[in-house]
Amino acid sequence: MAKQKTAVCLEQTSTIPSLKKQGAFDIKFSHDSKITSPMEAISFPYRAINEEESCKLMNILEVKSNSKMQDMVTVKCKLTGFSVRESVKQNLDKVSVTAIDGSADITLVLWNKLIDEATENCFYRVTNVRVKSFNQEVYLSTTLDTELEEIDEFQTVEVELPKDVWTDIDTIEIISTSHCFSCKSAIIVSEPQGMTVKCSHCKKRMLTTKIQKVTQIKVSVENKEFTIAKNMLEHVFPLWNEKTFSDLEDDMLLHCEVNIKGNNVVGLRKKKI
Ligand SMILES: [Zn+2]
Repeated sequence: MAKQKTAVCLEQTSTIPSLKKQGAFDIKFSHDSKITSPMEAISFPYRAINEEESCKLMNILEVKSNSKMQDMVTVKCKLTGFSVRESVKQNLDKVSVTAIDGSADITLVLWNKLIDEATENCFYRVTNVRVKSFNQEVYLSTTLDTELEEIDEFQTVEVELPKDVWTDIDTIEIISTSHCFSCKSAIIVSEPQGMTVKCSHCKKRMLTTKIQKVTQIKVSVENKEFTIAKNMLEHVFPLWNEKTFSDLEDDMLLHCEVNIKGNNVVGLRKKKI
């Protein structure tokens, strides 16, 4: 069930040192205590707790056409087209998959422990996923409240499998960004001559040689944008690091094709001559 938060005013209560967590306090209620809910002036919006609404079961077509951004929904679907596991930052791993249920398909982004709970081509009831959008495309993202429950294959719904085809890349852009050695935030290295740089996020200073470089390969195929995982690139071009980005972009456009499943690139290979 979704955990929803709202601010309340606790009257006639006292605080006592917590028995469970050292250094924390518990709130002690007595017969005189009362909750006045919600507070008037709060910095975040009050939301009524409505379980039915918070995890409404929808089919994917309904999610795409009828839901609002930030809605929490539940879908029953098959998960397919898993992308390569990507480390977005420290302790934050991401895998994009395609969820299909016969009505439509949608990208579902799995985070952290849910990645290990999901198996490609299995069917799940995915409870409490958030509706989001990127580049006007609606997608779903798991939250801390998301649960994956394996279910039987659908009997009544014809599941349309994403096509397995290899296509040319239309456009390509390879970008490199620098990241803090400590907190992994993006860093702008303004003085190439400088020997050290300070992270504006965690305020730590480090040698420029310690900065981590992240390379992103963005391609478009039939006006849709995709990201190619670096390990796919390394597989096709083991010496990619020795090329300039523009040579690499040339090479990939002229000689490579991609396999797209749903909303992900799941394969990269050299074209057969
Ligand atoms: Zn940092």
